[in-house]
Amino acid sequence: MIKAIGFDADDTLWDYEHIYREAKPKIAHILGEGYDYGQLFYKLDQAEVRNIDLYGYGVKSFALSMLENVARFSKRPLESDKLLKLIDLIKDMLNTNFKITPYAEEALSTLSAAYELILITKGESYEQERKIERSGLAGFFAAVEVVSYKTEDTYRKVLLRNGIAPENFLMVGNSLKSDILPVIRIGGKAVHIPHEVAWFHEEITEAEMSSIEYGQLEHLGQLPAYVNQLK
Ligand SMILES: [Mg+2]
Repeated sequence: MIKAIGFDADDTLWDYEHIYREAKPKIAHILGEGYDYGQLFYKLDQAEVRNIDLYGYGVKSFALSMLENVARFSKRPLESDKLLKLIDLIKDMLNTNFKITPYAEEALSTLSAAYELILITKGESYEQERKIERSGLAGFFAAVEVVSYKTEDTYRKVLLRNGIAPENFLMVGNSLKSDILPVIRIGGKAVHIPHEVAWFHEEITEAEMSSIEYGQLEHLGQLPAYVNQLK
């Protein structure tokens, strides 16, 4: 019997990955000619993954990896006006008004009346807490957990902290790797709601998913009915 529902935030409750995608042409526009952008952005993606252990996830981590790669690919000193424009771009990314996903508010409102809702989001605390505040959805949640990783161990600890048994827990999210697989492996249930934009790092193989059972919905509007039929 489900008693608590965990929600992923980025690209589940609100659109966010597109902010990173849209930053790349803006970076190219600021820097102008003289760079191999195919290489620069390929190396940037690699640097982001390589730096996760040091910086974690988020816009500020992206900024450090981006500046490192711009410096590496620059054949001459980077002019200070361009550096300032890149910093302004980062500030714009942090201040961008993101869109709440269709049906998110209705689903949270309906489900919060009968279940304990927990927001479980991966990233840098200040950055994520600021987004949660700006989303206007914070009031629906009994608890908010900002975590550095979403592994089996992470979910075990989150459930323990909140006094929830895995068999009473359902996780909802857009990432098979972060929101679905680890939760099923610790004995919980999970519903995948794919987002049109997936981060390259989050893609996993079909073989990894074929051995587990999880729900799949098109949008959050279908979630309350799905949860009710689980009882
Ligand atoms: Mg997500």
